[in-house]
Amino acid sequence: MYSFNYQRATSVEQARERLQEQPGARLLAGGQSLVASMKLRLTDPAELVDLGGIASLAGIRVEGRTVTIGAMTRHAEVAASAELQRALPSLAALAGGIADRMVRNMGTLGGSVANNDPAADYPSAVLALDATVITDRRRIVADAFFLGMFQTALEADELITAIEFKVPRRAAYVKYRHPASRYAIVGVYVADFGSGVRVAVTGAGPGVFRIPEMERALGGKFAPESVAGIQIPSEGLNADIHAGAEYRAEMVTVMATRAVERVLSEPASW
Ligand SMILES: Cc1cc2nc3c(=O)[nH]c(=O)nc-3n(C[C@H](O)[C@H](O)[C@H](O)COP(=O)(O)OP(=O)(O)OC[C@H]3O[C@@H](n4cnc5c(N)ncnc54)[C@H](O)[C@@H]3O)c2cc1C
Repeated sequence: MYSFNYQRATSVEQARERLQEQPGARLLAGGQSLVASMKLRLTDPAELVDLGGIASLAGIRVEGRTVTIGAMTRHAEVAASAELQRALPSLAALAGGIADRMVRNMGTLGGSVANNDPAADYPSAVLALDATVITDRRRIVADAFFLGMFQTALEADELITAIEFKVPRRAAYVKYRHPASRYAIVGVYVADFGSGVRVAVTGAGPGVFRIPEMERALGGKFAPESVAGIQIPSEGLNADIHAGAEYRAEMVTVMATRAVERVLSEPASW
């Protein structure tokens, strides 16, 4: 690890000022991705600006059919929230399936979404639930936020403050997970809003993506057989030591079918 300065911000304004004054500075949330890459010397920030002391960045608020979660809310808090388990159980379950207990106690929603790891779980929820990423200066809809592997629409000095999720009528997330890290080799989030269905895939490609063909099919008939025959092309999908591109393409169909089955096995929210 290279040497760096450490600052603990007490407000969003102070954090933003540090980023603007020191272009080599990076925000520190739970450190579960950033510190790991610093240890490997893959990244070399001149300064870390810790968001852990900004109380306004944490918390979960449910208002009607909108759920707002602060950027610094830890995965463990999202998983354990009784309010969220009632309003949006698929999101609480997703958080409970991230990594292990230690990572869930440190990792944050904002850190995961800003990092946009191609195998991370939260980006699929943000995209499937038609969420809005709220930053210190603007609101960015999910369809415009994720730009590709570790790439987002965030400016270098921009800070996520919260994410606003729409509550669907019913939804489920199913992943084929890596047995050690629990990152998604392929994960599919299906959300039925009554007025339309959104299907978001993580793990399979360089970034999270939607499958319009499955969305149309499920909008016509919400049933496993509507997606069980839809194959996505393997070109451009990830291929690594864990799984090849053709296998991942196959697993997208399998996970989507299981997600629809899970949706149908649970009561609708409204
Ligand atoms: C062993 C292990 C297993 C894991 N398994 C999974 C898994 O199964 N599924 C999964 O989804 N993830 C997994 N993760 C990742 C984990 O969920 C992390 O919590 C997540 O990547 C975000 O980390 P963090 O909140 O600690 O952010 P950090 O590591 O602190 O930051 C990550 C990046 O986001 C930036 N950032 C942080 N907060 C903000 C903000 N508010 N605004 C703008 N930029 C910000 C930072 O500058 C940095 O670039 C795993 C991690 C580990 C170590």
